[in-house]
Amino acid sequence: MLRNRIGRTDLLVNPIGLGANAIGGHNIYENIDEAISKKIIHTAINNGMNFFDTAYFYGLGRSEELIGEVMKEHGKRDDFVIASKASYTFVDKEVVHNNSPQFLTQSVEESLRRLQTDYIDLFYIHFPDDKTPKAEAVGALQRLKEQGKIRAIGVSNFNIEQLKEANQDGYLEVLQSHYNLFNRTAEEEIFPYVEEQEISFIPYFPLAKGLLTGKYRRDTPLTENQKKHPLFKEDAYFINLEKIDELHKIASEKKCQVGHVVLAWYLTRKPIHAVIPGAKTPEQILSNLQAGEVQLSEAEMAKIDRVFKGSFIH
Ligand code: NAP
Repeated sequence: MLRNRIGRTDLLVNPIGLGANAIGGHNIYENIDEAISKKIIHTAINNGMNFFDTAYFYGLGRSEELIGEVMKEHGKRDDFVIASKASYTFVDKEVVHNNSPQFLTQSVEESLRRLQTDYIDLFYIHFPDDKTPKAEAVGALQRLKEQGKIRAIGVSNFNIEQLKEANQDGYLEVLQSHYNLFNRTAEEEIFPYVEEQEISFIPYFPLAKGLLTGKYRRDTPLTENQKKHPLFKEDAYFINLEKIDELHKIASEKKCQVGHVVLAWYLTRKPIHAVIPGAKTPEQILSNLQAGEVQLSEAEMAKIDRVFKGSFIH
């Protein structure tokens, strides 16, 4: 079975994981069906996927609860590598991030309860806050690691200065941030630093809201909401589709799909050891898993690099 080690952690994962923000993510997407959410996780685990990326914020605990239920039904905790995250709190319905050691410690306890487990494989600070010294926040996660409550330490959405501050004691093992073929900003300063520090980089939004699966064509009807998104706004959208045409050519030569080529390309980047595309159906899981089998030639990698060079659309 396909397994990659995440950086210098002892976590062995199928490099194609599941981003679980649509699993019970009622606060993120409309019409979430929890029976389908559970079926997605069962399909994933029964087909060799073992890496699940969740967070308190996804459904305000519901994503973790559903993963916990499936883990119980499946019966083998070791078959799952679970990443979760905390920092979100709400004050008068406004989001306020909290990285205090006390809050992170309490959050890990609450995630353990929702997941019905006694350890979490990877725990991230979801967003930096304005108050807590970063090394102090990461120090709290290091203590939880020493107690065996978490197995690896991550941060998410930290910029390069915040990352350096957070890694003062060398405890950081994973950074999760926005990165895809349309937003390669992380390559400028983040990639060199994480490579030097042996920190693994997990890109989020790898499929750019589904655009990088190749399922959108010039005549695909878009919703009003989609049309407002920078990736789908008229001029940018048609330029993006021209770039994706090049991916279609590569995919058809390799007899696979555009999304497979895209996910496989990320895995050729040095600090990236796993990807976590989201999925809304079991069929999407089965399709995304096929990306793990795709090998790109040097020429194909270079072509994709060239076509998407300088893409910084958010
Ligand atoms: P994404 O992976 O770029 O896109 C996922 C979407 O693409 C799916 O919901 C689905 O949407 C479509 N899709 C996926 N596989 C497909 C397939 N095989 N064929 C056709 N369409 C397919 O975006 P994301 O899910 O928002 O991000 C991935 C994960 O990153 C999240 O689930 C979450 O775990 C994590 N994340 C983390 C942060 C953070 O702050 N740390 C922020 C955002 C996300 P449709 O069916 O609707 O097209």
